[in-house]
Amino acid sequence: MQNYLRCKSCGYDMYGPEYLSNTIDPFAYSSDSYYPPTALLNLSTKPDNQIECPYCHTTGNWSH
Ligand SMILES: [Zn+2]
Repeated sequence: MQNYLRCKSCGYDMYGPEYLSNTIDPFAYSSDSYYPPTALLNLSTKPDNQIECPYCHTTGNWSH
């Protein structure tokens, strides 16, 4: 899976730790369990249409 998004509204590039912090659904993660990072991503990554741009606050307007 990709780990990079570009906002179509403002052109903001989100990647790396910021990408992870915005795309991981905290409610899908249990601190009682350990998952390798790749497994965690597959389990709890939000759909693009639920991710908000941290710059312009548009939600779900991303290109890859
Ligand atoms: Zn934006």
